[in-house]
Amino acid sequence: MTRVLVVEDDAQLARALVINLQARRYVVDAAPDGATALSLAASEPPDVLIVDLGLPDMDGIDVIQALRRWSRSPVLVLSARSGSEDKIRALDAGADDYMTKPFSMDELLARLRAATRRAAEAPPLEPVAGGQVSTDDFTVDLVAKKVKRVDRDVRLTPTEWHLLEILICNPGRLISQRRLLQEVWGPSYSTKTNYLRVYMAQLRRKLEADPSHPRYLITEPGMGYRFEP
Ligand code: CA
Repeated sequence: MTRVLVVEDDAQLARALVINLQARRYVVDAAPDGATALSLAASEPPDVLIVDLGLPDMDGIDVIQALRRWSRSPVLVLSARSGSEDKIRALDAGADDYMTKPFSMDELLARLRAATRRAAEAPPLEPVAGGQVSTDDFTVDLVAKKVKRVDRDVRLTPTEWHLLEILICNPGRLISQRRLLQEVWGPSYSTKTNYLRVYMAQLRRKLEADPSHPRYLITEPGMGYRFEP
């Protein structure tokens, strides 16, 4: 049984979401504003949240930020705001995914399933079991700081390693360009997206079977990067 909290002030849309989710056997709570959302999330902790950004009492981004102080449940933003700045702000606040309105219900349901599956398999921010992450093509040992491809060691520069570590420790999660730049290079580099492009290309050359069609290190254009386990 998966509990979903729908945070949406558009009553018609909220109703459509509730009906569609209940039809797929989700347990659904709905909140028309941020304050209700936070108190509901505390009393009936949801497994996943769908959050609108334009709410009557507070910004959805502030709801996510407040929630992230005590909850790791995945947050899927559903917003009319399509600017990349809004997407980045939402992701930096702790959202896991972002969809723009108008949206397809099927896509929303697919992303919801993906978010809950990822949360069940590998909760974000939790240490990875045994310090090892294995894919079909490479193995990363987070403790020994070593990467192996089939049977040979892969040498990474400290910058490549740092970048890979952040992505690997957040499996499936979209990490914003700004967060990666700030964590790896420092706060004054938060707009140097060309650095990321260069280093991600290097990582793909070292780790991906087909670097031009990456399977693990995925680009979300204009937003950030994702490690798909
Ligand atoms: Ca709204």
